Amino acid sequence: MAKLNENFDKLTAGYLFPEISKRVKTFLENNKGVSIIRLGIGNTTEPLAPVVIEALHNGVDKLSKVDTYTGYGDDSTIYAIKDFREALATYYNKLGAKIELDEIFISDGAKSDLGNIPSIFSQDSIIAVQDPTYPAYVDVAVISGKTGKSTGQQYERIVYMPCGEENNFFPEPPTQKADLIFLCSPNNPTGAVATKEQLKKFVDYAKKNQAIIIFDAAYNWFISDPALPKSIYEIEGAKECAIEINSFSKFAGFTGVRLGWSIVPKTLVTQDSSPGKINSIWNRRQCTMFNGASNIVQEGGLVALSEKGLAENQQIIDYYMNNARTIRKALEEKGFKVFGGTNAPYLWVKTPNGMKSWDFFDKMLSEAKVVITPGSGFGPSGEGYFRVSSFGHKENVAKAIESIKKNLKL
Ligand code: PLP
Repeated sequence: MAKLNENFDKLTAGYLFPEISKRVKTFLENNKGVSIIRLGIGNTTEPLAPVVIEALHNGVDKLSKVDTYTGYGDDSTIYAIKDFREALATYYNKLGAKIELDEIFISDGAKSDLGNIPSIFSQDSIIAVQDPTYPAYVDVAVISGKTGKSTGQQYERIVYMPCGEENNFFPEPPTQKADLIFLCSPNNPTGAVATKEQLKKFVDYAKKNQAIIIFDAAYNWFISDPALPKSIYEIEGAKECAIEINSFSKFAGFTGVRLGWSIVPKTLVTQDSSPGKINSIWNRRQCTMFNGASNIVQEGGLVALSEKGLAENQQIIDYYMNNARTIRKALEEKGFKVFGGTNAPYLWVKTPNGMKSWDFFDKMLSEAKVVITPGSGFGPSGEGYFRVSSFGHKENVAKAIESIKKNLKL
């Protein structure tokens, strides 16, 4: 008799974004003819860089000719097209980190790897997360059966590391035992970026406790302060305890195109494994359950990493960061306390008068007709905040802030 994975029933609240969609739908049904502006979801909106478009076309053309046609990727290169892993190794080299080609695994986006990597670690691993952070880490832990049951806003057997004003929204390493530590920097939703000193403390913790850090760097392209680390491998010792996951989604607008990568160093070790083992298990997992990212898309990704590609993508990042500055200025003028948004595309804003996140979401929607993201959806410590995304057309951002200025009653 087939039985379901009962862990799905442990997922308490619905995923954050479906709940937002439900409330927006109800609002629009009750307010016919009213139009709303979205400053909520972190979806990219601007067209791909011209040089990337050209490379994608080129990728399609290659498939039209017998001598350039390619099918499945080669598992000896873990399905990367020629030169792709070299381009990523060069990227890390520029950051001062030496990454070997067989430590680089191409994927169809960061979310898949974030969801799959925990499966190579023991079922009794204790997972630690920043609170608030990207909700997928907790959901993956729950679905994979690595947590206990929900106790309201939290799950048993997850270590929550609160991030608030008192620690500049980046935590100290936990005082209790944790085996797998998800770190997101710049963090979605707070926009906080860990300093080298802060990351060093986590690397020291991980090495001392034989823990593994899963470092999500999906937004590192938005860091403009040269003192802030863009990769955990800028920290000495990180190659012995950290996996890094990254994506072309936010840097090159590949949210719908799909491409990412993970670094699983051969020097990683756990209590019961010697160097090389984790890398080879992940390789085995990928070769069994994944057949590579699209070869067309990889052509685009390879060019996105070229000098021209990086320059064109930087212009798009600057466009979003300009939105972030506009939003910050307007919200501060309105009297809000605003965090983040300087080295990250997200602004993290305190609700007025201690309002609950979802109550403020409803108020913003009904008065200003603007959709924001309630902070409590990212973890219990997100209560009393909301996230504003700078992904969007600047004309819409202008309309949204105009409406907030005029219609939001504080
Ligand atoms: N990691 C973080 C922190 C994110 O916010 C997102 C998407 O919003 C992802 C990963 C997913 O990235 P991808 O589109 O590469 O799957």
